[in-house]
Amino acid sequence: MGNLRLFPSGIARLRSSVYHWAMSFPRNALRSVFALLLLVSPGLAGGAEDQKLVLIAGKPSHPPLMHEFRAGCLLLQNCLEGVEGLTVDVHDQGWVDDDKVLADADAIVIFADGGGRHPAIQENRLEVLGALMEKGVGFGCMHYGVEVPPDKGAKEMVAWIGGRYEHMYSCNPIWEPQFQDLPKHAVTQGVSPFQIKDEWYFNMRFIGGIVGNEPSKQPSMSFTPILMGKPSDDVRDGPYVYPKGPYEHILSSKGRTESMLWVVERSDGGRGFGFTGGHFHMNWGNDDFRKVVLNTLVWLAKVNVPGKGIESSVTEEQLKANLDKKGK
Ligand SMILES: [Zn+2]
Repeated sequence: MGNLRLFPSGIARLRSSVYHWAMSFPRNALRSVFALLLLVSPGLAGGAEDQKLVLIAGKPSHPPLMHEFRAGCLLLQNCLEGVEGLTVDVHDQGWVDDDKVLADADAIVIFADGGGRHPAIQENRLEVLGALMEKGVGFGCMHYGVEVPPDKGAKEMVAWIGGRYEHMYSCNPIWEPQFQDLPKHAVTQGVSPFQIKDEWYFNMRFIGGIVGNEPSKQPSMSFTPILMGKPSDDVRDGPYVYPKGPYEHILSSKGRTESMLWVVERSDGGRGFGFTGGHFHMNWGNDDFRKVVLNTLVWLAKVNVPGKGIESSVTEEQLKANLDKKGK
């Protein structure tokens, strides 16, 4: 399946109801003015001037409610309905049907399994993405999507989003960080401190060899950590999900704060981010967890994040919609 739009467009709905309301007026000047305004307002039409965010969901993987890339992307798309100036396209099965879809994208996000199967390193996709990055297109990777093999796509990943997971260097324990000190930034607007259990990878290979737990100016980008937490000694002791560890270099950094969501502004004009959570699908039900990611997606596409952040709510039913068929 290609481009997915399973939810009715909130903007189209709003536009239609305003139109019908205006049409209920007696035939007079006011009614004509309303009709005219609606016809000529590109903002309400959700049209060509919108920034375009493309979310690419990976193929099914893992047991139910884990790595639910498609359901996660559709949920995020639904929460972004009605954000003025933004159109969100979701593509599943790990890539778009036609690279032309990417040609006019303002931002691209990959939420998929990575490593050797990372969608961005298949076929000629590093070249396709590289050309877009040079134009200043935004790029973000979520969860396993932050990992590419050291010998394929690693250089690009760091150049585009400022960091990457490296097998046997980074680690992937399941733990519950407390995100207490949120920096002042567009993507933290309206987000309250929170804590939540996830497979929060940490100890990324960050640009310039930085630890990544404080803002940094690099020659090709500025780097800002957003979600920072301190793994307990127990977390560093392991076991990690895979391989179980522990690794000596993870143990020797006991007490250090680690970054699990970071954003970058590249000198080519593009923005980027890496987000290491997203293992457990039901975490999207947490308002602050969801909001910081929604804000980040909007910011990535260079759309204004409102002062209170992107407000949304999701029901249990919405959380359980669109799950991959994985059997028991
Ligand atoms: Zn995972």
